[in-house]
Amino acid sequence: MGVTTLIPRRPDSDLEVDARAVNSRAARALYKKREQIYPKLARGLFRNVKWAAMIVLLTIYYVTPWLRWDRGVGRPDQAVLVDFDHGRFYFFFIELWPQEVYYITGLLILAAFGIFLSSALFGRIWCGYACPQTVWTDLYIYVERLIEGDRNERMRLDKAPLSWGKAGKKASKHALWLIIAAATGGAWVFYFADAPTLFAAIFSGTASASAYLFIGLLTFTTYALAGTMREQVCTYMCPWPRIQAAMMDKDALSVAYRVDRGEPRGAHKKGQSWEGRGDCIDCRQCVAVCPQGIDIRDGDQLECINCALCIDACDAIMTKVGRPKGLIAYDSYANQTRRAQGKVARIRLVRPRTILYGALFALVGALMIYGLASRQTLDANVIRDRSPPFVRLADGSMRNDYELKLINMSAAPRRVSISVEGLEGAHLQAPDLGAAGAVVAVASADGVTNVRLHVAAPAGVLPGSHDIRFTVRDLESGETATSASAFLAGGER
Ligand code: SF4
Ligand code: SF4
Repeated sequence: MGVTTLIPRRPDSDLEVDARAVNSRAARALYKKREQIYPKLARGLFRNVKWAAMIVLLTIYYVTPWLRWDRGVGRPDQAVLVDFDHGRFYFFFIELWPQEVYYITGLLILAAFGIFLSSALFGRIWCGYACPQTVWTDLYIYVERLIEGDRNERMRLDKAPLSWGKAGKKASKHALWLIIAAATGGAWVFYFADAPTLFAAIFSGTASASAYLFIGLLTFTTYALAGTMREQVCTYMCPWPRIQAAMMDKDALSVAYRVDRGEPRGAHKKGQSWEGRGDCIDCRQCVAVCPQGIDIRDGDQLECINCALCIDACDAIMTKVGRPKGLIAYDSYANQTRRAQGKVARIRLVRPRTILYGALFALVGALMIYGLASRQTLDANVIRDRSPPFVRLADGSMRNDYELKLINMSAAPRRVSISVEGLEGAHLQAPDLGAAGAVVAVASADGVTNVRLHVAAPAGVLPGSHDIRFTVRDLESGETATSASAFLAGGER
């Protein structure tokens, strides 16, 4: 058996002890423990705008799957539906098929230019008012405030020893948070199936496993992100604060503290003169209402989501002490510089950057509208049989066989003619050809119909591959669709 020899360690030198202390302080600074934030209720214009944005956005999210839209017999009547089973996306009167996924790409590009434009104009307005993280966090804080009270009461409650009252409040809050989280997860899955049917199935325990899985996943993420992680998501997880700096310039507006007006700050007693001092009375109300727990007076900060609640808080204080509002306001870096130089501040919304983003947004929007307005509801996709590549007929002519997929995106069946062009003398072969040698077929409603086609080319056609094109024409509306293919001819035997 081996013997372990314990060698006494030399006592640490003072230098080592110092270095370890510095390292541990650095580590503490790097991994700062989260301090609980207790945002106070702000009152004012921007708080009202935020309430309105929250109500509108949450209503859209929760209610949309329940809206109905009549598309005719046998077709889904849900206004917004992502139907994976049948490969369809329904949005009111718009119905997209998988091959039209470019409309979704267009929508994403449009959203990107929209957010570029709003950032160039008003900084992180998306973060402050419309980001789901902000909206749900706002809702969760509302519930928290409803049950536990405003900032000071919540702080007192958290410091108080555990009691039945405290446990009851905490349990009620978390229960309500969980109900909201489950409703959020539930609403999400309703976008992917008929909402009333799925609703009944969920509660009768007959919904699919994937439905329960996604509800569970979204329940967990909503509860964790909006209930417990809150401002940390914006500060540490979201890449947008890092990216959006590229969209902003010195004239972009964002929430800022007017140092030139506010400093030197300090407490102010009623009746005292304002001479030789700034307007900031250091009341810290702007900090108390901040959902990110920061002090806007420290300048631009990554954590600031531009929710403007500190503007409301400070405006209320300014009104109380009889000073003009706007000590904290939407301002630009350029204006701050101009004021520091004694120049007049001005807002420049129209700038090369905003014109460019606006033009790109309008262009993509116009293309999308044009694309949707002129959208084809008839499409064709032809596949040539590869085995055998061609058939030599008794009279020396050649025949190639094809499978044509007729895609009818309208609600009614359509009679169509199918013709072939591109190769001299090539013609369709069928027992009952229509006018000009076209095959007549019926494209079933809202579906794909397969049609077998045989194309013959006369004897003497040059060996090799020849480009040909199939044209499908709606016999009633005249709408056409084409599909390119090849005709393969063999050499002499
Ligand atoms: S709310 Fe206004 S006055 Fe009060 S500390 Fe903030 S900036 Fe100063
Ligand atoms: S500093 Fe003001 S604008 Fe920024 S997050 Fe806090 S309250 Fe909102």
